[in-house]
Amino acid sequence: MKKKIMVDMDGVICNDNFMEYVEHFLNKKFDIERERIYFRQQLISGKESEFKSIYENENLYEGIEIYPKCYEVLERLSQKYEIYIVTAYIWQKNIINPSQNLKNKFSFLSEKLPFLNPKNFIFINDKRLLDFDFRIDDRVSGFKENSVNILFSNFCNKNIENDDMRKYKINRVNNWEDIEKFFSDYENVDFVDREGNISSVTKSDCNPSYEGECYNRTRLIKTLKKVNELSE
Ligand SMILES: [Mg+2]
Repeated sequence: MKKKIMVDMDGVICNDNFMEYVEHFLNKKFDIERERIYFRQQLISGKESEFKSIYENENLYEGIEIYPKCYEVLERLSQKYEIYIVTAYIWQKNIINPSQNLKNKFSFLSEKLPFLNPKNFIFINDKRLLDFDFRIDDRVSGFKENSVNILFSNFCNKNIENDDMRKYKINRVNNWEDIEKFFSDYENVDFVDREGNISSVTKSDCNPSYEGECYNRTRLIKTLKKVNELSE
């Protein structure tokens, strides 16, 4: 059975038009990285009703492209893993029409990632109700302790607490190339036999009956560095 990867949509697959609407609404430019906010809707705090009356039915994904290499990497991963796109469609504050948003998200995903099975698009606010082997998200609220958690860098996670980093054993990635590298490192391990010869094997080939030891690449590099330091 293929292992399951959960992929969040907003901030991982693409960035929507919301900031454009906020800047238009407030007639002000923002550098989102410098704002001390967790949700972008905090920028219109107190003006939600007025905002909603103008932008409630706008398509947040109109004219939007997916992030570079997202298509290629997801397509390759989908040959080995079962990919699920898991995304919320009801906003925290009621400022965007949920039924329109749901429809727009579905159309966008079907059009931009046509190789994925639309049955694997899941629209849900609490992602922790579901189980996956891997989770890629830009918010820790999408993580679970029993998954391999991959945090996609974004404005909302630049100050993530160390407690959460430890609790969810978070791996940080900055783009889709990093995600591909993460899975390649995760799958391929280096096998060191008793004579010290190193060869690459896949994780499934790596079992305790081998006369040697298996390391993932990062651990092996760390181990070799230590050995070098000691022998210097
Ligand atoms: Mg997100």
